[in-house]
Amino acid sequence: MAGPCSVESREQVREIASGVREMGASILRGGAFKPRSSPYSFQGLGEQGLKFLREAADENGLLVVTEIMDSKQIPMFLELVDILQVGARNCQNFSLLKELGRVDKPVLLKRGLSATIEEWLLAAEYLMVGGNHQVILCERGIRTFEKYTRNTLDLSAIPIVEKLSHLPIVVDPSHGTGRRDKVVPMARAAVAAGADGLLIEVHNAPDKALCDGAQSLLPEQFQKLMEEIRIIATALGRSVTSPVERAAR
Ligand code: PEP
Ligand code: MN
Repeated sequence: MAGPCSVESREQVREIASGVREMGASILRGGAFKPRSSPYSFQGLGEQGLKFLREAADENGLLVVTEIMDSKQIPMFLELVDILQVGARNCQNFSLLKELGRVDKPVLLKRGLSATIEEWLLAAEYLMVGGNHQVILCERGIRTFEKYTRNTLDLSAIPIVEKLSHLPIVVDPSHGTGRRDKVVPMARAAVAAGADGLLIEVHNAPDKALCDGAQSLLPEQFQKLMEEIRIIATALGRSVTSPVERAAR
């Protein structure tokens, strides 16, 4: 799963979508409704952003994952989105989780900023108890005292979740580290530790990004990472397949 932190324009998301697709991504990410710490920061393009994402994904044979912030947005998301992301800040928004438990679409549930693994798995139970068993967990780092990184990426969550739960787990080393040069090594480590997927921020002009440019990979860095994780996955007896390869079969 790859794409910009935020959908900024039609052209931006189309260009990034075609790039990451060629490099082997299967799912396009990009925020349209953004949970920004400051109300003065860019809040996202809203419904228009979802439409741009949908168009860019359809042009490239990709699926769309994007964050839902409010249950009022469910009808719009059911129409335009393939995987509904619940952000770290809403991991324990139980009323939102209950509503999404009634939805027939996969939900990607990010670990809360300070959630223990048990709290995160119980949040996933809120979705499943309502009848939605299509749940993907996403480790995105937790808040600790460490300041060199934006968050502390807890890769030990991967084998723990694998032991405690049947749910797939993907890792987001972008928010997990907050720094571009730390994303690649942690993505490699996540695959080596058994992650079922990665969620990575990629931007065509990260220095001009409206959100999270410092942690966004340049397209060429993403390409190299994809080559490396193929080698790591293969060495461990797993495989990485992309839509381009699937279409060629
Ligand atoms: C995101 O993926 O765009 C995001 C806001 O992530 P998180 O909820 O993990 O902070
Ligand atoms: Mn982001």
